[in-house]
Amino acid sequence: MTIEEFAYDHPDRDVAAFKRAVANKLIYAVGKDPFAASQDDWLNATALAVRDQLVERWMATTRASYAQDLKRVYYLSMEFLIGRTFTNALLALELQDIVKQALADFGVDIAALAEREPDAALGNGGLGRLAACFLDSMATLGVPGFGYGIRYEYGMFRQKIVDGQQVETPDYWLTRGNPWEFQRPEVTYRVRFGGHVQRREDASGSGAADWVDTHDVLAVAYDTIIPGYGTQATNTLRLWSARATEEIDLSAFNRGNYMQAVESKNHSENVSRVLYPDDSTASGRELRLHQEYFFVSASVQDLLRRYLRTHKTFDKLPEKVSIHLNDTHPVLAVPELMRLLLDEHGLEWDEAWAQTQKVFSYTNHTLMHEALETWPVEMMGRILPRHLQIIYEMNARFLALVAQKAGDDVELPRRLSLVDEVGERRVRMAYIAVLASHSINGVSGLHSELMKQSIFADFNKIFPERFNNKTNGVTPRRWLAQANPPLAALLDQRIGRGWRRDLTQLQALRPMAQQAPFVRAFRHAKRENKLRLANWIEQNMGLEIDTDAMFDVQVKRIHEYKRQLLNVLHVVSRYQRIVAAHESGQVSDLVPRVVVFAGKAASAYHAAKQVIRLINDVAAVVNNDPRVGKLLKVVFLPNYSVSLAEIIMPAADLSEQISTAGTEASGTGNMKFALNGALTIGTLDGANVEMKENVGDENIFIFGHTTPEVADIRTSGYQPRSHYEADPELRGVLDAIRDGAFSPGEPSRYQGIYDTLVNWGDQYLLLADYASYVATQARVDALYRDADAWTRMAILNVAGMGAFSSDRTIAEYAHQIWNTKPVLLT
Ligand SMILES: *Cc1c(COP(=O)(O)O)cnc(C)c1O
Repeated sequence: MTIEEFAYDHPDRDVAAFKRAVANKLIYAVGKDPFAASQDDWLNATALAVRDQLVERWMATTRASYAQDLKRVYYLSMEFLIGRTFTNALLALELQDIVKQALADFGVDIAALAEREPDAALGNGGLGRLAACFLDSMATLGVPGFGYGIRYEYGMFRQKIVDGQQVETPDYWLTRGNPWEFQRPEVTYRVRFGGHVQRREDASGSGAADWVDTHDVLAVAYDTIIPGYGTQATNTLRLWSARATEEIDLSAFNRGNYMQAVESKNHSENVSRVLYPDDSTASGRELRLHQEYFFVSASVQDLLRRYLRTHKTFDKLPEKVSIHLNDTHPVLAVPELMRLLLDEHGLEWDEAWAQTQKVFSYTNHTLMHEALETWPVEMMGRILPRHLQIIYEMNARFLALVAQKAGDDVELPRRLSLVDEVGERRVRMAYIAVLASHSINGVSGLHSELMKQSIFADFNKIFPERFNNKTNGVTPRRWLAQANPPLAALLDQRIGRGWRRDLTQLQALRPMAQQAPFVRAFRHAKRENKLRLANWIEQNMGLEIDTDAMFDVQVKRIHEYKRQLLNVLHVVSRYQRIVAAHESGQVSDLVPRVVVFAGKAASAYHAAKQVIRLINDVAAVVNNDPRVGKLLKVVFLPNYSVSLAEIIMPAADLSEQISTAGTEASGTGNMKFALNGALTIGTLDGANVEMKENVGDENIFIFGHTTPEVADIRTSGYQPRSHYEADPELRGVLDAIRDGAFSPGEPSRYQGIYDTLVNWGDQYLLLADYASYVATQARVDALYRDADAWTRMAILNVAGMGAFSSDRTIAEYAHQIWNTKPVLLT
């Protein structure tokens, strides 16, 4: 039988057919009478009908990639920050109008339904969102691949602001079911923990071993279809969920302790329960190590099984398989692949290692010491004894090689060892990644250079050919077509629809920056987006804001290196100037601004939570001071998420990208803003550097010390107090915060923030960059007063963003790292 002979209902793409499809889903799949159906029932029914439209493409893609025996990319990531799927699927299928009409005929409002879909928030921030943009681009370019990760039951926590402070509540996103996923109970793997290792009797020197007396957890696959745009090609996101094994603790059972036996089953399912809500400090918790091994073991078993369906030996593994490590979280895939090849498939060490090194590639996301993952040798030996053995063997062989090259540098082997021997012995996960990978990339030009000079300097001397750069990008489907309908419609009208798949076509806007009607239309689109955000703020926070004011926006994880606090210092300086002008009978000539913040702090990160509290305290004072009027409003939007970002980015006039130079690896928020017509005020950090090159020096507001200057300041003994003493305005701002001007009920609340900056070293150089920042903000004000000049510059920013599509990034990965060919669909 061929697929053509296999009879089933091919879903049609007209309104009548779609109504029938939704009606069938509501009745037969959801099991609801249309007269009793809730909004969520309609959403589930509609999602299922839309999903049907993707399934044929999905199966055709899978069949074609088998028939063409294509190399597949396995993108291993602890995080996929997907957001909502409904609108994205409609966009990929070009079904918006049909579905809207079909639902309207049932008296159902499509926009209200879309709003009810929970975000799949299986990630913290930039790293997880990058993985989601990459899946979108891989499907769009037809790169055959899988995303592999964890199906957390609880995603990123929901943030509430109570009395100005962050309160975390659990995000149980599956309450109302997930119509997009396919559970695959038949795709289940056993993942083992603990136990001990026995030399195998018949191993005859091959190094194979038996890992015994383990306690095991099952990994069950859940698949989600990732549609490409403007293509039939799709990909799969396969997420693993933990299940208890069939067997129960027999000894407990025999003692008649049924409850205890079942409790330990529940315990093993904790592995996929919750996402760690910290985006930057490596958490040394045991559950985290369990999670990391859980998902990579299932993934490597799965991809080997797929490879062995069409191959008898491992000779062609590197020709057919690429495994990409999104940061170090999945690095255990390296010893896991070695273990499977040695112990389960009988390869010799040298052969297994040669193949492993050709299969892996690794992306580094941070140079910050506290974020570099290491695991105590003691813990790894207890939980993964066989893997620790394999890591020791890798290390011994590598260090023997290093010793030959070290020459006079007797310290080199110690510096390069996979095991840090200082203090409590720890395994360095990034070093395993570098040793095992044929390609190691950073995520912006600056970051990739710093990576070679700092954390991997010694490795770069030994393996210089492995290091490269792949500047991040964002998908123009979600971040322009979907998030910004007014601008997307304007672009379609003036330059055609091709930018969705080829973002460099935005270049065609450059001459239009000089055309008055286009400038007006562009400003009109921005205005609509500002109104949408203003309405959101009014409805959700009860705060009225003026859409003529400049929307000055900083939204991202709250972290000291991102310097939200520097932004607050500027806000307070404006407040003080407005009040001073008022007191002397004048009106300040400052441009009216609405300063918008949003972002989550890791739940244990006290300094970041204090910044959230300070922002809310400043907002309460500023927004209620009658002397300020419309000149300044401060808003902290709760629960920053992908869906909220889709409303915020298009509404921004000014994008704040103000991290200390040398700390932000790339940033992708910076790209989303500029793509939506915001101007950037930023430091020469991460991808800001390349954005400046692409939009032109004169179209971006750069301030602050550069990376080498920051290094010089630090080595020559930074004295933040000298800035405090020399600059009366800065002193006024810091004193007000210290003395309780924004916390009258508890005047000493922010003494710690003051001390951190003035007395305790100001690690991120806020005071050193303050004057430059405030002066640059004055230039921003001046430009905003000339609405046409501002809009022309915004247009030139959009025009220059072609290089920052994740399609460009993924094309580079595919050609230069993975060496994959696109799937051909007839
Ligand atoms: C893009 C994005 C980020 C990353 O923002 P940066 O400014 O690059 O740190 C974080 N969270 C969400 C929800 C995003 O969409």
